[in-house]
Amino acid sequence: MKVEILGCSGGMGLGQHTTCYRINEHTLMDAGSGLGNLPQDELKKIRHILITHSHLDHICFLPLLIDNLFEFLKQPIHVYALPEVLEILKQHIFNWKIWPDFATLPNQDHPVVRFHTVQAWQPVVVGDLTFTAFPVEHIVPTCGYHVVSETGHTLAFTGDTTYGTAVMQELNKLGQLDVLMTECAFPDRLLELAHVSKHLTPKLVKDFVDAMAYRPRQVWLSHLKPSQTHEIRAELEKLDLSTKLVLLQTGQVFQL
Ligand SMILES: [Zn+2]
Ligand SMILES: [Zn+2]
Repeated sequence: MKVEILGCSGGMGLGQHTTCYRINEHTLMDAGSGLGNLPQDELKKIRHILITHSHLDHICFLPLLIDNLFEFLKQPIHVYALPEVLEILKQHIFNWKIWPDFATLPNQDHPVVRFHTVQAWQPVVVGDLTFTAFPVEHIVPTCGYHVVSETGHTLAFTGDTTYGTAVMQELNKLGQLDVLMTECAFPDRLLELAHVSKHLTPKLVKDFVDAMAYRPRQVWLSHLKPSQTHEIRAELEKLDLSTKLVLLQTGQVFQL
């Protein structure tokens, strides 16, 4: 599978774009401001969007994408998320006040977007990929996605999460991973804030990876807060994860 890092920052600023990953041209995981890095012709190829949770940095460009493509869409774009997350999106974004309810436009029988619920541990086949949602622990309802490619390569994207026994019990059901893609929002100095907001710091990333039953072949990290990037990076460089650590950057393309 081809994985493009369209956005992987925990905030904004010149060159900083929030969470959005494209897999095999047609599928996105999350729709943060990184989605704005795709030219129009590439935006038109997107058919499926899997959302981890409703926080703005993960969904802010979803409404704009649908609006952008409205006149070109012959088939609906499919959006997948936990039922609680879809409910939040419908209630607080696609409510005709913040943005139109595109699930009813141009009419209910042939809308430009269709919402689909995902349930933990129920695989969804999307083109040549299989996605399985799994529970993580964040401050709002959130899931991660386990992705298996047509060639059997595996990637697990946790979305935003903290470290804890319950999370690890779920993660360890995934078996051996080629890539664990997770976050490291704060430096260790802000460990307390990470606990309260349910994010990770370098120390918690180490605990997380050490608690995995099968060490992933690579660990990809994202979501560093822009104002603390240097501090977090320095702490990560001192970690010994006994596996390859990649700090994601916008524009990277990986082939698994
Ligand atoms: Zn979040
Ligand atoms: Zn986030």
